[in-house]
Amino acid sequence: MADNADDASEMAELHLAAELAKPKAILPPLTGHCFYCHTPTPERFCDADCRDDFERDKRRILMRKRG
Ligand SMILES: [Zn+2]
Repeated sequence: MADNADDASEMAELHLAAELAKPKAILPPLTGHCFYCHTPTPERFCDADCRDDFERDKRRILMRKRG
């Protein structure tokens, strides 16, 4: 039915709009090294501690910029 096809394309457009509206990830792209301690790792961080420390440092930098 033609109506169903129209609905499908409308859904696709809504989905695309939702994707575009999403805020971009703040994390930098994968480099093969931990962003915090620079140890080689397939992930962004070698463990949760590094991720937490990285987030904490980032927050501290933001706070400093704010004055
Ligand atoms: Zn690390």
